[in-house]
Amino acid sequence: MLDTTHENQKDIALFVDSMNKKTKRFMKYNHKNAIKQAIHISPAYRDFVNKLLNNSALKVSPYVGGSCRVIEHGTPGKMSKRCKVQICVAFDEMGVFPHELGHATDFLFGDNCSLTSSVIIQDGKTLEDIFNEEFNEKAMELFETILDEYMDCINANINEDAYEVFLNYMPKYNLLQKTKNPKKRRELQKELYDSGFVEIYYQVVTKKCFKIIEQKYTPITDALSARFDISGLLFRGHSFIYYALRPSLLVQEFFANVFADKISANHTRFDALIKLMPKSFNAFERLFVILYDHIQNNKRFTDLPLKVTQKDKKEAADAWLYTVHRSTNCQQGWTNW
Ligand SMILES: [Zn+2]
Repeated sequence: MLDTTHENQKDIALFVDSMNKKTKRFMKYNHKNAIKQAIHISPAYRDFVNKLLNNSALKVSPYVGGSCRVIEHGTPGKMSKRCKVQICVAFDEMGVFPHELGHATDFLFGDNCSLTSSVIIQDGKTLEDIFNEEFNEKAMELFETILDEYMDCINANINEDAYEVFLNYMPKYNLLQKTKNPKKRRELQKELYDSGFVEIYYQVVTKKCFKIIEQKYTPITDALSARFDISGLLFRGHSFIYYALRPSLLVQEFFANVFADKISANHTRFDALIKLMPKSFNAFERLFVILYDHIQNNKRFTDLPLKVTQKDKKEAADAWLYTVHRSTNCQQGWTNW
């Protein structure tokens, strides 16, 4: 039963109905999650999300994590025909669907005519151009700012040396995961225990300092994982290897992360973006306004000024793009199937 006290029940009902149609039988058994997911979407954007969902080019399937696959390629410089895209999402994790819908929206006209790399926002530049310029210039500064805050959070919650021990012994902890020799394992375990790492690690996990940082900075920490090895810091996101596969993944993930926050009204992260990456956030907002206007008013996208580069033509994909985002780990690969 729907929550009849909820003032936005009509949009929620439409969302659940759209999901049922998209996912066929599955949602009947996940009705509660569909309602929770609808409520998770900001009331201001439920109608917009419903319109995106109801386009026949978008396929939605249940999954254990999240993924977005471009089934049909577009043509660089042409935004006339919607391309088929499939998203697979776990509906028990509220953040997965908004993120994957962000990717699907970026790829409305295919991965080789993505909104992020094609639509000119200002001065002949796309969101990708603006984001890359700002991120490349500030990556080190962003890394230091966020890690300083993480250090303060860990030291204040555990003890004043905790962050140093946590960071210094993390490589040995990672080594322990790979070590099979029992004697070597015992030595590593003893060292980790004696140094205080084991207790500190436990406290970092239970006190969730990394969640405090993620709650503020996810679009930035995710992008930073393309430049720095932050795998031992417990932040969720993609990996260095993932981002190395294709340069445009960086802005695509930024767009999907901020899009998810936008439609879920997770504005706490916007404060950090406005402060630390104002040009990128402003460019995102301008692209989002264009997108929102076109979807809500049922406009064709053929009026938009587009940037077509040789790179786009060269990268016109010869395989399906398949991005997989798991709850704690994310992978991406090119496949031929
Ligand atoms: Zn993603």
